[in-house]
Amino acid sequence: MSKISHQEGIVLRSYPFGEADRVVVLLSPERGKLRTVARGVRRVRSRLRGRLEPFCRVELVLHRGRELDLITSVTVVSAYPELRTDLDRLLAASTMVNAADGVAQPEQSSQALFGLLAESLEVLSSADDIPGLTTAFLLRLAEVVGVAPALEWCASCGGTDGLARFSFAGGGVTCERCHTQGSVRLVGGVTQHLRDLARADLGDLPPTTVDLSTQAMSVVCRFLEVHLDRSFRSLAAPS
Ligand SMILES: [Zn+2]
Repeated sequence: MSKISHQEGIVLRSYPFGEADRVVVLLSPERGKLRTVARGVRRVRSRLRGRLEPFCRVELVLHRGRELDLITSVTVVSAYPELRTDLDRLLAASTMVNAADGVAQPEQSSQALFGLLAESLEVLSSADDIPGLTTAFLLRLAEVVGVAPALEWCASCGGTDGLARFSFAGGGVTCERCHTQGSVRLVGGVTQHLRDLARADLGDLPPTTVDLSTQAMSVVCRFLEVHLDRSFRSLAAPS
């Protein structure tokens, strides 16, 4: 196998490694979560410097190493500066990459997850409804990894009437009769709002109110925490 490969990726995070290097963790469509080394990137004159920030979509030339691949060149496809200069967008983008990082696996084709993250960051860079977009992203991520919550029928009995509660451990909305310990009562309209967000085009989200969007975000974050055993709340929602 050739030692040189070309990979597209979105930078999820990076951390210092050795004296002047960084390990850069990316989501790649072909190889899933990809840990690479950027040699000397912490030096002021490094030509890689500034091109491997979180959220950057890049094309890499990699040299296969014994444990980690070495980055030999980087071309920035999209740097998304808007995601770093606006606090709400920064928090939303952080939630998205953190969630993708939490579910991506090494050496596993991740076309759907990569496409979702790439599209969401693109839309987010100019979005008006940032909480709605984050919630819609998390609902799609749940679908990609096979844990989408039931929204059309009661997660317990399958009924379709009075779906006014949400059961985190139970797997989605429930009717009043089936309500389980730890489930929450939904604000009027949230069940429909969650359905709308799950179906909508990311660039054309349904209209919302603060009450609807706050509870929708909170419910989806908590649902994913329970099902993926990972926290999103600290970044995504004040509650
Ligand atoms: Zn029920």
